[in-house]
Amino acid sequence: MSVLGIPDPEFMQDEEISMYRDAVGKFLDRHAPEKRVEKWREDGQVEREFWREAGEAGLLGVSVPAEYGGHGGDFRHDIVVVDQVARRGIEGFAASLHNVIITPYIQTHGTEEQKKRWLPKLVSGELVSAIAMSEPGAGSDLQSIRTTAIKEGNGYRLNGSKTFISNGQIADLIVVVAKTDPSQGAKGTSLLVIETEGLEGFSRGKKLDKIGLDAQDTSELFFDNVFVPADNLLGGVEGRGFYQLMAELPRERLIIAIGSVIVMEKAIETTLDYVKNRKAFGQTVFDFQNTQFKLAECKAKATVAKVFINDCVNKVLKGELDVTTASIAKMWSTETEWEIVDTCLQLHGGYGYINEYPIAKMFRNSRVQRIYGGSTEIMKLLIARSL
Ligand SMILES: Cc1cc2nc3c(=O)[nH]c(=O)nc-3n(C[C@H](O)[C@H](O)[C@H](O)COP(=O)(O)OP(=O)(O)OC[C@H]3O[C@@H](n4cnc5c(N)ncnc54)[C@H](O)[C@@H]3O)c2cc1C
Repeated sequence: MSVLGIPDPEFMQDEEISMYRDAVGKFLDRHAPEKRVEKWREDGQVEREFWREAGEAGLLGVSVPAEYGGHGGDFRHDIVVVDQVARRGIEGFAASLHNVIITPYIQTHGTEEQKKRWLPKLVSGELVSAIAMSEPGAGSDLQSIRTTAIKEGNGYRLNGSKTFISNGQIADLIVVVAKTDPSQGAKGTSLLVIETEGLEGFSRGKKLDKIGLDAQDTSELFFDNVFVPADNLLGGVEGRGFYQLMAELPRERLIIAIGSVIVMEKAIETTLDYVKNRKAFGQTVFDFQNTQFKLAECKAKATVAKVFINDCVNKVLKGELDVTTASIAKMWSTETEWEIVDTCLQLHGGYGYINEYPIAKMFRNSRVQRIYGGSTEIMKLLIARSL
């Protein structure tokens, strides 16, 4: 049991889930040892081959129904993968993005033909996915995007550019947010699914140099008169993009919050280990009352976050997670993660600033949690709407 001492919620206490957790853990220990992950950090991206290995081992598209080549699991299985990856600090392998954020767009909003065409390959790892919403001129304010997909014959001409796209360098299937009717705001927005192999007019820009998430590639993408067949319009009906985005965002935000809680636990555990061994003024750093009080505060905050997040997961399983609750989860957990990681780093003294120590990586990786997937300020806007 972790330092928080909270047993798994009832919905996770299932033999099949526990066997799946073991299998995922064993796969990661075997296929993503620290040395290999370190190489990904140096390269700034995960090896493409690892995605195939993960697909073969059943880590991708876990909750895709068996009829589309998936494993027929549910959100609990998705959480197991996210949890096992995060606990090992394999920050570049964006399984949560692929499994919990992008695949559900196809699964929930795709036509039957689209599901049959893409889901099996997303499950096998033959296709690695990305979602391209943000642009140089529009991030939080998605209605202002300028990428257009204008009808031409039996398809669309896609023009524009995107930035900050996770998996941007390796993705072969990208869900692109574009205006099919630029005269309209939300109602003129659609999602187009592009397959990048040999796609004329599509190019990948710079792999962006970030302060954290070293092994995860985050890139610019360019579309120069790219022809996208009408069959690639998600759901087959124009103008549904915002509706589709809004439907998926609560679960997307919750998965970020779940990642935050795992990091909170890890930060407290690694810090306890450190302060109980580090000596100063003839005692361990843990013996100072300040250290104990700081870690007590961290444990209290993390415990509250975990109980709330477990309740949100239960809501997802029952199909009841609403926008406000998901926004509260994302805002509270990512802000609390940051406070805890900063406190824990301080307790490491100078060693906390050295990348070799896990807390330093946690600190660098945590910073973006409050920004992507909708910033804290945007979460506050959404929560305020419920007042
Ligand atoms: C590592 C990383 C990975 C990412 N991955 C992806 C990805 O895979 N796909 C993708 O599409 N995007 C991705 N993003 C982009 C991310 O979602 C955006 O950066 C984020 O939504 C914020 O948009 P912005 O950067 O344009 O900031 P802006 O929207 O310009 O915001 C700047 C500041 O203003 C604040 N602000 C904006 N509007 C308001 C308001 N109405 N009221 C108060 N404050 C406001 C913001 O909170 C922020 O503090 C990623 C970003 C990073 C850094």
